[in-house]
Amino acid sequence: MTATVPQLQLYDTRRRAVFPFEPLVPGQVGMYSCGPTVYAPQHLGNMRSQLTPDLLRRVLLASGLDVTSVTNVTDVGHLTDDADDGDDKVEAAARREGRTAAEITAFFTEQWATDRRRLGCLEPDVLPRAAAHIPQQIEMIRVLEAQGHTYRIDDGVYFDVATFPAYADFAGLDLDALQATGRVEHVDDKRQPADFALWKLSPPGTMRLQEWDSPWGRGFPGWHIECSAMATQYLGDRFDIHTGGVDHVRVHHTNEVAQSECALGVHPWVGWWVHNEFLDLAGEKLSKSKGHTLVVDDLVARGIEPLAFRYFFLQAHYRQQQSFTFDLVAAAGTALRRLTLHAVAARDDVGGDATAGDSSRTEPLRAAFWDALADDLNAPRALSVVSTVVRSPELTAADRWSLLADFDRVLAFGLADAVVPSGSDESAEDPEVAALLAAREEARATRDFASADRIRDELAARGLEVIDTPAGPQARRRDGAENP
Ligand code: AMP
Ligand code: ZN
Repeated sequence: MTATVPQLQLYDTRRRAVFPFEPLVPGQVGMYSCGPTVYAPQHLGNMRSQLTPDLLRRVLLASGLDVTSVTNVTDVGHLTDDADDGDDKVEAAARREGRTAAEITAFFTEQWATDRRRLGCLEPDVLPRAAAHIPQQIEMIRVLEAQGHTYRIDDGVYFDVATFPAYADFAGLDLDALQATGRVEHVDDKRQPADFALWKLSPPGTMRLQEWDSPWGRGFPGWHIECSAMATQYLGDRFDIHTGGVDHVRVHHTNEVAQSECALGVHPWVGWWVHNEFLDLAGEKLSKSKGHTLVVDDLVARGIEPLAFRYFFLQAHYRQQQSFTFDLVAAAGTALRRLTLHAVAARDDVGGDATAGDSSRTEPLRAAFWDALADDLNAPRALSVVSTVVRSPELTAADRWSLLADFDRVLAFGLADAVVPSGSDESAEDPEVAALLAAREEARATRDFASADRIRDELAARGLEVIDTPAGPQARRRDGAENP
């Protein structure tokens, strides 16, 4: 049984409020996600910007929409800062490692793709690389030039933000303050600090690893133009959703909006801008440039399964900062194993039949789960419904599996195929435990759920988990719980 998912209420950064989500073309959603810059490993913070669109995409799919998901790979043009100074990050890494740019980008693209998979993310429908879309970027710059939005200085072609009066609107920027604080770096000769490079010229007498001919000379595209050009190529002049981390709002996405709305003559270019907050490592931004590269393998090395990070991710709302510690992710792993244990027992009890629940018991819980997700992707609230499903003594195995199989369309914990080590039933050895289990069964039979809950808590205090299995309820020792 699957529920009708209510209409999604989704926050849009541009309009700074939640709006009922309606795609431009009924039934079809175009979604573009800023992907990795592939000159170094993508850390767990970066993965939050993959898990957020994955959650969103799965909720849209569950509501019956057809979703085209495009995620780019930045393999050229991202300079040391969001601004226009410094080295190209890919180029710098290739020189440092004595490898070609293609080797560097292929290696880190693979690391990122593997980690996405390990975290249960669906594959992007389209995964365009910036370096494979140079003509499209040149074409967009030509259009902007013909419209008078650009100017040339020694090191390249720049977008003149003064030609787009709405420039500051997207992020609510104060351009004068920006100028005063110097938050946007200076390139000599730029007309305004916020002007940004569309095409950078290779300095005379140098040979870059990645450079192309263009109407302005040999060089390479600025970072921002790739997303506008590739989104247009795969999703059209306007589309429904654009995602990325909050750090992109002020510069990268502000610039994308400026160049796209000018070149394409549209407004708004994108219906909903969805930005995830940062994953924070002890109050410090998890930034590659600061030398932290905390990756999925670091979890595995500590005995934490990758999907524990997905569970951990779901414990915070995507627009809230989330603090990372290994202990918190390990605790999420314990919760996930408990969920899996119950789900597998219920699934096997009903032979995998997810249609057999009693709707008077299942539907209120099903509605609560999907209502939570439709409320601007409130995953923590949805997870609390999952806990109720796992704990509620009044639910049968059929009820439980009917719900968890449905929920797993977005949870993506692989519950349909999960295997768990069976563990032994302690009631077989301990008559006291057997008596408690029997008393719980009796309480359930007379619908005395308060007593059933109390007995479950008593067993939990002894480190035992009550699992409803095809052979009847069992009391199994929880992971890591000592026999008192
Ligand atoms: P980058 O490879 O640096 O361009 O980052 C890839 C994506 O990860 C972008 O959408 C960033 O906004 C996002 N991101 C970077 N650091 C974090 C973090 N600590 N938490 C969440 N998202 C992040
Ligand atoms: Zn982007």
